[in-house]
Amino acid sequence: TRTYVVTGAASGIGAATARLLAERGERVIGVDLRDADVEADLSTREGRLAAVERVAELSGGVVDGVIACAGISAPIPATISVNFFGVTEVLEGLLPALRASDAPRAAVVSSMASLQPVVPAMVEAALAGDEERALAVAAATAEQGPELGYLVYPSSKRALSRWVRRESITEAWAGAGIPLNAVAPGTVITPMTAALLDNPEGLAMVDAAVPMPLNSHQPAESIANLLIFLTSVENTHMAGQTIYDDGGADATLRGDDI
Ligand code: NAD
Repeated sequence: TRTYVVTGAASGIGAATARLLAERGERVIGVDLRDADVEADLSTREGRLAAVERVAELSGGVVDGVIACAGISAPIPATISVNFFGVTEVLEGLLPALRASDAPRAAVVSSMASLQPVVPAMVEAALAGDEERALAVAAATAEQGPELGYLVYPSSKRALSRWVRRESITEAWAGAGIPLNAVAPGTVITPMTAALLDNPEGLAMVDAAVPMPLNSHQPAESIANLLIFLTSVENTHMAGQTIYDDGGADATLRGDDI
């Protein structure tokens, strides 16, 4: 039995991942705001530290896989805190427990949105580990209205995919034998997208931004199964990738531009 930490385990992709892992007989420590083994607010540093501490207690100091799904898509500054720092600081905090495993693995959830326009200053501040500055740029952006505020989400995901790419090959991760990768979903049917997919205008907007010629909108399990592979013993050599599991949206939008 392997021990997995799944953030965002109370809903959507995280809930599907936790359920599928449990069905395979793995041990899952779920982290979320509520309805989880570890209840913590990953938008704050204190919440992240508390979550890491509690996971260390519950796991006995050995974690085999970390799957970070917690995220929000609102056009507000907190989106950079949850989606970037709520992932990277938890992963870094869990490194000692991962290093104690025979076959440690980590995977995070990025997004197709990582390919959309971003605010470069926000991405740079996040990658510099400067949450205060990232929040200030996000606040200045969101103040200009919801359309610009929306840029906080793609900025958070671009920064996350880039962080995975950079970190995966360092001493801390590759050097410790820990594959670190990201999955970029297309449009997944979860509570995050329910309201948008429920009205014709929202649906048209989503489908224009994320065209999915293969099988259209995806169930949370399609992403969960890939996250489970990435954090399985079998994944020995994949590092730093953002894998677009998106019904062909990336192939449609980027075409030959890779
Ligand atoms: P969801 O809203 O169903 O689940 C997200 C979970 O994260 C919730 O349980 C929520 O409570 C938790 N969470 C939010 N803020 C938190 C905080 N401050 N502290 C702790 N937990 C917190 O959404 P989902 O669709 O399952 O999204 C999961 C991930 O997938 C997110 O990172 C999201 O950005 C990404 N994603 C989703 C889609 C999609 O179409 N649904 C597409 C691309 C990427």
